Amino acid sequence: MRVTTALNRMLKLPGALVKDVAFGGEGVVVTVGLRARRRSACSGCGARGLLIKERREKSWRHLDLGASRCYIECRLRRLYCPGCGDVYEAVPCSPTSRRTRSPPCRIDMSAGYEKAIRAPEGLPNAQVCFDPFHVCQLGGKAADQVRRAEYNRHGRSCTGEGKWIKGTRYSLLKNTANQTPKQLAKLADVVLTNESMYRAFLLLGELLRQTRRRQRARGSAEARDARVCSQEIVAGCKLVGRSSQALAT
Ligand SMILES: [Zn+2]
Repeated sequence: MRVTTALNRMLKLPGALVKDVAFGGEGVVVTVGLRARRRSACSGCGARGLLIKERREKSWRHLDLGASRCYIECRLRRLYCPGCGDVYEAVPCSPTSRRTRSPPCRIDMSAGYEKAIRAPEGLPNAQVCFDPFHVCQLGGKAADQVRRAEYNRHGRSCTGEGKWIKGTRYSLLKNTANQTPKQLAKLADVVLTNESMYRAFLLLGELLRQTRRRQRARGSAEARDARVCSQEIVAGCKLVGRSSQALAT
């Protein structure tokens, strides 16, 4: 029996065939080729149809073969994923494949938490989801920032319009279902007279709706959706933040 055939039987690597075997001082290096050229998929989130940047040899440690260490070597495509950045394509036999990934971690939005999880000694392959409570809180802050920028631009409390803008806070931030008729009337005036604040109100409403909708999802879909949702929300907040900055200058 050829040694490659023997290793194919021993290793049983899903989706890959042993092409070559080398026995060196550090252990056994098994070069594999992927069986079928499937459409590339992100090893982080599974997104498909991504841009291929380059191809690179990649090796990772496999289970030991008796007393020898075993390394798998494979030529993989490097992809650009809008959600995960530069990543290798997903390979069923690699340790970063979705089957062996760590469970999703839900954290608050501080950079320190994410850094700790991403560290090599943490859970570098884990999906990070932001806690919806903090995401919504950030959205509310961003919308209020737009209102304050408008307040400053209209002469603050020295003018009638400034005073009026100051009083629109709850109309912009509070769930419309819980607003008093007076607050709703004020909101209608915002819609008609102030485009920036109206836009902030719409974005915030969309963020809250998306978060509530995704929170109702269950199981693994929940983790994936929460991740997508957090990206949408952060993008939305950046938009609101940008418009408030533009108004402030
Ligand atoms: Zn991805």
